[in-house]
Amino acid sequence: MGKSISIIGSGFSALSASCYLAQAGHHVSIYEKNKTVGGRARQLKRDGFTFDIGPSWYWMPDIFEKFFNDFGKSTSDYYQLDKLNPAYKIFFSDEVITIGDHLDQICEEFERIETGSSKPLRKFIARAQEHYDIAINKVVLKPGLSPFELVTKDTVTRVDQFFKTISSEVRKNFKNPKLISTLEFPVLFLGAKPNQTPSFYSFMNFADFGLGTWHPQGGMYEIIKGMTKLAESLGVQINTESNVEKIHVENGKTTGISVNGKFIASDIVLSGADYHHSETLLDKEHRQYSEAYWDKRTFAPSSLLFYVGFDKKLQNIEHHNLFFDTDFEEHAKEIYDKPKWPKDPLFYVNFPSVTDSSMAPEGCEAGFFLIPIAPGLEDTPELRQQYFDLIINRFEKRTNQNVLNHIMFKESFCVKDFIDEYNSYKGNAYGMANTLMQTAFLRPKLKSKKVDNLYFTGQLTVPGPGVPPSLISGKLVAELIQKNQNI
Ligand SMILES: Cc1cc2nc3c(=O)[nH]c(=O)nc-3n(C[C@H](O)[C@H](O)[C@H](O)COP(=O)(O)OP(=O)(O)OC[C@H]3O[C@@H](n4cnc5c(N)ncnc54)[C@H](O)[C@@H]3O)c2cc1C
Repeated sequence: MGKSISIIGSGFSALSASCYLAQAGHHVSIYEKNKTVGGRARQLKRDGFTFDIGPSWYWMPDIFEKFFNDFGKSTSDYYQLDKLNPAYKIFFSDEVITIGDHLDQICEEFERIETGSSKPLRKFIARAQEHYDIAINKVVLKPGLSPFELVTKDTVTRVDQFFKTISSEVRKNFKNPKLISTLEFPVLFLGAKPNQTPSFYSFMNFADFGLGTWHPQGGMYEIIKGMTKLAESLGVQINTESNVEKIHVENGKTTGISVNGKFIASDIVLSGADYHHSETLLDKEHRQYSEAYWDKRTFAPSSLLFYVGFDKKLQNIEHHNLFFDTDFEEHAKEIYDKPKWPKDPLFYVNFPSVTDSSMAPEGCEAGFFLIPIAPGLEDTPELRQQYFDLIINRFEKRTNQNVLNHIMFKESFCVKDFIDEYNSYKGNAYGMANTLMQTAFLRPKLKSKKVDNLYFTGQLTVPGPGVPPSLISGKLVAELIQKNQNI
């Protein structure tokens, strides 16, 4: 007999879980507070321009494919994927490194920067591929219930890889600071500093150099549209502008939720909203984690974002552009060690209209600028403008062109918006970082320890931040719910 399941939120993890649960025969309804679905991956449309509000890097295409395959579908049933070449460009103060779409090309680029570096690079990526196979096929598919999940034939022989850091591993093999930054970049997606991220996570380097960077035509929101279509075809009811105000509990068991003042009886409640916020929907005695617990976690950064419409095509840019022309160590300290607005931050710019003409009107460019910052910082219009001026000046200098006079409009998004729009803890952008002490069974649990039939999913749970992990998180929680129903 199918259960009635209410899901809070409509991000990647919630949509993913809804598909698996509906496929298993349950009656699934999603309640999303915002006007549109997608959570952090919503879309902004203005004056013929299209911007992905959040994620823009499509990595690990195998995970997206596996998700749709689980329902007898393929990504190509929902969107067209293109492999980007070059994958991205990194601007340093005196040089530009271009990452191609094939390891041979990347090796040539490494040789150009440091003679002899292609040999250790091939070795490093071969090892990263082994880690990828173990991580993706074995480790991340575990629900984080016990430390023994991590003990497999493959992981015990690599125990050292959980205690060494990616930073030490990279520095052992490469001396050139630009190549070091290039190889440390992928783990920034995991939300922590490379010197606090276990070297097992070098599988992100295989995702980068081995599997490549892809783009769904029309932008990342096409994935959300595809998942929504799939969910609805499986019978999931999706309700937007439906703010969940309370999770009800009776005799240690959830009985339902309140949405816009109305009680919705439910056998099972699953929250895909930020974990901290989800627990505040419970009376205090039913919460598992204290405020002190959350305060002690290492959160992934928040971001200051700008969505900019330019009235001309820009020069010397690619689809993805990283500006690593200042001191990363200093910026990292300002994010993690002594949180404050950074003096001279690194930043990232995405121009999807370089490869996808549907993203901007003809002859125009859609630009998305991102500065990672510490969560919880003061956020004012003046500070936003100050940082826009700072990075646009650096952008002009590094790309050797004038763009300031070609801005048709700009919109911004920062700490305040993350809190207002998503109920995000301290305005974090990517959830909780994957440090050694916040990996697998050490992350917040998928199932409530205090309330029966209450579950959680999303980037604060297992396996962690990012779109592919969120898809997996939805699958893991659906499997756990199914397993518990069958006991
Ligand atoms: C700026 C930015 C850039 C990123 N770049 C990348 C990238 O390039 N590649 C990548 O793989 N990942 C990237 N990420 C990370 C990725 O977007 C996230 O990991 C993923 O989208 C998180 O999905 P989720 O399901 O955990 O939750 P969310 O997307 O946060 O969804 C939670 C939903 O719950 C809703 N909600 C909250 N409270 C309530 C309530 N009380 N009632 C009803 N609904 C509620 C929210 O409105 C939201 O829709 C980026 C994230 C950001 C913010």
